[in-house]
Amino acid sequence: MLQKPCVKCQSGKSVYSRSYSGETLCKNCFLSSIEDKTRKTISKYSMLQHDDRVAVAVSGGKDSLSLLYVLKNIFETSHRATPIAITVDEGIKGYRNESLEIVKQFCANLRIENKIVSYKELFGYDMDRAILERPSNKMSSCSICGTFRRRAIDLAAEEVGANVVATGHNLDDQIQTFMINMISGDVQRIGWTSPQSVGSKFHTQRKIKPFCEIYEQEIVFYALLREIPFQTEDCPYMNESIRTQIREFINALEKERPGIKYNLYNSASKISDNLKTFSNHIDSKKCATCGRIATSETCSVCKTLSILERNTNYAE
Ligand code: SF4
Ligand code: ZN
Repeated sequence: MLQKPCVKCQSGKSVYSRSYSGETLCKNCFLSSIEDKTRKTISKYSMLQHDDRVAVAVSGGKDSLSLLYVLKNIFETSHRATPIAITVDEGIKGYRNESLEIVKQFCANLRIENKIVSYKELFGYDMDRAILERPSNKMSSCSICGTFRRRAIDLAAEEVGANVVATGHNLDDQIQTFMINMISGDVQRIGWTSPQSVGSKFHTQRKIKPFCEIYEQEIVFYALLREIPFQTEDCPYMNESIRTQIREFINALEKERPGIKYNLYNSASKISDNLKTFSNHIDSKKCATCGRIATSETCSVCKTLSILERNTNYAE
């Protein structure tokens, strides 16, 4: 039980202790701190223009549902158009159905339009089938899924007429992605993860991450205090990704040395900022198969589909 008073309003009923800053906060001040931080991040990186049409990629997890909630309120007070929720159905049996229902209900309560697209309808494969038919030594589930998801979100955003896509990536996601790119030697991608790289010639829409400076555990607490319902079950394929090990490693460091995540985030942001120019100099091409903008002759979605199809034909 926390005894210290709230450092902001002195109400005496603190519910959260921010170990990296030493602050103790009451419920209202904690909720305001998350909403204020989101506003400040949007303004710090000039993420939005007034006439933007914003789609929020909503999976049914705590980050994306909280982001939808926070953005809806920010937009209402600044007289912007209500955001639209776009949801991707990967086709993972026993996992995705629950979250689709949560998103549907949540959007109905907030009176927000919810556009759902599925891998099956867009690419002819759902994740369960792609997992069965992939050459397992070459493709991890999350790399197939990530490739499909980026395209699915682009297509859904185009369909609803959005020029900006907001995702719920938090500070922990940012540093994990940075470390994954470092480990895999993908320097080009490091430049694209900068919070400042809000526009890219490889995407039709600007991508923004308004929670990128907020710890994951604070988003979880925000969702709990706001009573936002979210899916807690993990994807059955998640352990194939190195992300899980990196997350555990960084969480253990943070526990011993509070604030280490912030230091890592600041270093990662500076490095990605410096690499941004390099990444943006890569020529954009048109995929010879589907015609969309790509970094090489064939885009990553068409490459993935051709590997899956080749493997399916061998098996037959
Ligand atoms: Fe897709 Fe991997 Fe996320 Fe599962 S954990 S939904 S496979 S990216
Ligand atoms: Zn293509």
